Amino acid sequence: MIIETDEGKMITLALQKSGRLSDRSLTLLNEAGIHLENGSSNRLKATASNFPVQVLYLRDDDIPECVADGVADVGIVGLNVVEEKERPVTVVERLGFARCRLSIAVPREFAYTSLQSLNGLRIATSYPRILGKFLQEHQIKAQIHEISGSVEVAPGIGMADAIFDIVSTGSTLISNGLVEVETVMHSEAVLVASPDLSAEKSRILESLLFRFRAVMKARRYRYILLNAPNEALDEIARILPGMKSPTVMPLALPGWSSVHSVIQEEDFWEIIENLKAAGAQGILVIPIEKMIV
Ligand code: ATP
Ligand code: ZN
Repeated sequence: MIIETDEGKMITLALQKSGRLSDRSLTLLNEAGIHLENGSSNRLKATASNFPVQVLYLRDDDIPECVADGVADVGIVGLNVVEEKERPVTVVERLGFARCRLSIAVPREFAYTSLQSLNGLRIATSYPRILGKFLQEHQIKAQIHEISGSVEVAPGIGMADAIFDIVSTGSTLISNGLVEVETVMHSEAVLVASPDLSAEKSRILESLLFRFRAVMKARRYRYILLNAPNEALDEIARILPGMKSPTVMPLALPGWSSVHSVIQEEDFWEIIENLKAAGAQGILVIPIEKMIV
C-alpha cells in the first residue's frame, strides 16, 4: 500500500487518552494490523506507519464534539457519551467492548413500584440529557440534578432521592445501599464518524471498517480440529456447523479421519460435549486471528 501523509488522504481517529476504552481501542487497531509510531512517547497524537490514519488522544467526553466539528474524522467512544452529547455524528459500528448499562437506582428502603414512583423525586446523574429524554417519554416529572462524579453517593448524603448512572456489575450500587429499578439504555464502544467525510476519507473509513469487522468476527469464532472413527463422521458433521461444512481428511491410521471446522465461541462447551459423546478424540481448539467471509 502507498502511504500518504497528506492530511486529506488520511483519516484522523480520536481515541480515549486513558480510561476504560483506551486499551481495547488500541488492541483493536493493533489486531487490524495498524501500527502506531510514537504511540506511547507522544501521548497527544500518533501516526500509523502502515495505514493512512493518525490518532488523537482525547478525553472521551470531547470525542463526539471533535468528530462533529471536523477536528477528527472518526472516533471510538461509548454509545452513552454519543447519546448524551447529542452531536451530529454517525454511529458506524458497534465494537462489542466496554459494555455497560445506564440505570435508575433508588435506596434499598424506598418503596418502588413502577416508573410513577419517580414522580417528584430528585435524581442525580452525569447524564442529564439521556435521563431527561427517558423521563419525558414516560411522562414522569422529576428533578434532574447534574453532578459530574460519584453519583452513587448522592442519596446517602441527602443530595438526591435516586440516581441514574452506569452499572456494569452492580457492586457499587450494593455497597451504597441502592437497588437498580429501571434500565434505560445499553451501551458499548462504538465507532462514530463525521457525517460529511470526503470521498477519499470515506474510502479509508471503509477499509478501516473492513479490518475491524474481520477482527471482531474472528473473536467470536474458534477453529476446531479433532480425530474421529469414520463411522462417527456423519454424526460429527451434524454437530459441527462450519462455515460451509467441515473439512474431512483421512488419517494414516486406517478407519480414522481428521475433521476441521469453525465454531462459535458461545456454543463452545455444548459442542465439545456433543463431539466427545459422538466419539471425537484429540480435540484441539485454536483462536482465529482474522475472519473474512
Ligand atoms: P475521561 O477521563 O476520558 O473523561 P471517564 O472517566 O469519563 O474518562 P471511563 O470511566 O474511562 O470514562 O469510561 C469510559 C466509558 O467506558 C464509559 O463512558 C462507558 O461507555 C464505558 N464503561 C463500561 N463499563 C463502565 C463502568 N463500569 N463504569 C464506567 N464506564 C464504563
Ligand atoms: Zn469522561
